[in-house]
Amino acid sequence: KEKDDFLFRTVHDLRSPSNTVRLILEKYAKSDFLKRYPELKEDISIIQELDARMLQLVNDLLLVGKGEEAGTLVKKEKVDISLIIQQVLNECSAIAAVKNIKFRYDPPADLPFVAADTGLVSEVVLNLVDNAIKYNKPGGDVIISHAVMNGFLETAIQDTGIGIAPENTDNLFKPYFRGEQSGKIRGTGLGLYIVKRLVEKMNGSVGISSLVGQGTKITFSLPMVTEKG
Ligand code: ATP
Ligand code: MG
Repeated sequence: KEKDDFLFRTVHDLRSPSNTVRLILEKYAKSDFLKRYPELKEDISIIQELDARMLQLVNDLLLVGKGEEAGTLVKKEKVDISLIIQQVLNECSAIAAVKNIKFRYDPPADLPFVAADTGLVSEVVLNLVDNAIKYNKPGGDVIISHAVMNGFLETAIQDTGIGIAPENTDNLFKPYFRGEQSGKIRGTGLGLYIVKRLVEKMNGSVGISSLVGQGTKITFSLPMVTEKG
């Protein structure tokens, strides 16, 4: 309980620096500034996007903290998940490069649309790719693929990392759980809890298969868009 209260307050206080960053960036994103420093344009827009994502994450964590049922806030958009995945991979390419990790993602041209909330899907993918890099071995791979089953589009994020012991797999999706192999790797143990919660809010489900020392595959499914919408 004390841990929850602490986390809730910390998360809450993250909102104000993030908002300040947003306001400052708005000033520099103005065209007269960018005319003078065109080389900063891309960096500024990336920081703006990441800051917006952080604010969204913070707001979502606040909902977790309040124990609020946020079901009503979930949008049902017609989403091309491959675009979201490409965007997340772009954002993560710098950290992946540090460990010389390669992304393998080659979505089919006729990938079905899913009925989901773009912002939430983006958070889900980001958390899973983050783990797949963090718990990978240097020079490893992150492989992303899709499968269609019973009206759902399943996305699998597979890595060639340290893996998860079978006795831990039941606990992974619980808040604050961290596997003992995670050792020195930083984290709070909230990523997968959030992933599960968000996917379920969008009427999907998550799954895991893993082999210690070989790698981990996390899957999540989302309902496909039906012709009637
Ligand atoms: P954060 O809140 O920053 O995401 P975290 O990564 O520790 O912290 P989770 O993403 O919830 O938290 O993952 C929980 C635990 O599951 C991790 O501590 C790690 O032990 C294990 N784990 C998650 N993903 C993987 C993976 N791809 N390979 C191996 N272990 C993993
Ligand atoms: Mg994580």
